[in-house]
Amino acid sequence: MDFVAGTFCEPQAPDGILEDRSPADLSVVLGRHAWAASQVERAVDAARAAQAAFGGLPQRDRAQLVRRIGAVLKEREEDLARAIALDVGKPLWEARMEAQACSAKAAITAEEGLKLVSTFPAPGQAGAECRFRPLGVLAVLGPFNFPVHLPNGHILPALACGNAVVFKPSEIAPHAAEVYARCLENAGVPPGLFNLVQGGPAVGAALTAHPRVDGILFTGSWGVGQAIRKATQGQTKILALEMGGKNAALVLADADRDKALYDVLFSAFVSAGQRCTAASRVIVVGDARKFARRIAQLAERLSIGHPLDEGVFMGPLASPAALEKFEQGVRESGTETVLESRRLQPRGLSGCYVSPSVHFVEQRRGTPYEREELFGPDLAVYPAASEEEALEIANATDYGLAASVHTAGEETFDRCQRALACGVVNWNAPTVGASGRLPFGGLKRSGNHRPAALWSTLYCAAPVSIMRGDKALDREKLAPGVLWVDE
Ligand code: NAD
Repeated sequence: MDFVAGTFCEPQAPDGILEDRSPADLSVVLGRHAWAASQVERAVDAARAAQAAFGGLPQRDRAQLVRRIGAVLKEREEDLARAIALDVGKPLWEARMEAQACSAKAAITAEEGLKLVSTFPAPGQAGAECRFRPLGVLAVLGPFNFPVHLPNGHILPALACGNAVVFKPSEIAPHAAEVYARCLENAGVPPGLFNLVQGGPAVGAALTAHPRVDGILFTGSWGVGQAIRKATQGQTKILALEMGGKNAALVLADADRDKALYDVLFSAFVSAGQRCTAASRVIVVGDARKFARRIAQLAERLSIGHPLDEGVFMGPLASPAALEKFEQGVRESGTETVLESRRLQPRGLSGCYVSPSVHFVEQRRGTPYEREELFGPDLAVYPAASEEEALEIANATDYGLAASVHTAGEETFDRCQRALACGVVNWNAPTVGASGRLPFGGLKRSGNHRPAALWSTLYCAAPVSIMRGDKALDREKLAPGVLWVDE
């Protein structure tokens, strides 16, 4: 269902139907969602109408609304978590963490986030100050892997800053998006201020190119980010693009091996490798072959199953298309296989289950396998002779999102952190950990220098700088060469 102007509705003349099957069990249909590109027009109209009044409210009233949404998200955490788990196959423990992050985002936005866009004076210049104004109508486009948390991470800051929102979720997760929209309805968001339009690329393209959309807050792949950039060339929209990663974990000679093994195992295979921050490469200074054998041994023992089953570490991939793309990427890796992935049918279920794979890259060739995101449970192990070589391998990618450095030495970490061209660098911790109270974004193909998380309010508001003059003319302050005469 769409949610437009405060009402859940179906398009009158659908362009198509999204049949939402759970990747955990493809015989389960979670819903059928009619979609139409024409809904974009209605949603943008509703958003524009609602924004006019809302944008003029004081910051504390907008913060209040965000807190109210946070309270409902907290109340409905379990519903959200179950919807996420069934829609994209994430195990329930992980889906719960995603749902918890949503209400936490409300508090962070209303407190620290809004402080970043609060009026401030120019030191030493009486009356000069910076205020912030909303941008207008913002389009939020979400990926499938965090179908609620990441859109919510744009939606709440957008509302807090006085904008209206049109949200187009991933076509793989329409059910989770609808449960989320019902939370906003329950929180009493004024009609039109938040709208949901379901659909795939055609709806996304119609929304992003729409001339009365003032900004695009996008989380997804580099390829789609580029398509959006091209489609909006010549327009004046703000673009906040959070894109992919080809992340590396560096295991240096002095690292505690077992801790590093655990962190890398978690980074590579949690969410079945479908995180933008997942480690798809580990670069080992020391006995890399032994590391590869050990990680393969541990990966083989991970528990894979239905996302709602107890004790499951890894669920299925998010869709049959994601599974096929992953398998093709692995087939074409052109490297030595240490652990081969295979399709699985836990409990006899017909879903998108696959076991992890591990490869060993003795000779670097710059193949797509080494450069591009695979977005599945695969880890490439690289040997390196020194810290310098490990850093060179880590940076030899077009992406720059996340990395981890496993070393006992603080100075070594500091040196590596400075050398790594990434927006997130973790020390003796998985690549996938990130704080909502810090900025989150990447360099190179991973972003466009508009980090999200704590800093998301910064791209949802425009600064307005104001100088204040004297109320009456001061004849002593005339510019040189102005010869004033009174009437
Ligand atoms: P995707 O790029 O395929 O789709 C993202 C969204 O864009 C979807 O809603 C999709 O329908 C829409 N879309 C597709 N074509 C479009 C077009 N031409 N115009 C406008 N919208 C269009 O991404 P995905 O497969 O859903 O998600 C996985 C990707 O997201 C990975 O690359 C991952 O690394 C990235 N990601 C990045 C972050 C981050 O914060 N940097 C976080 C999570 C995921």
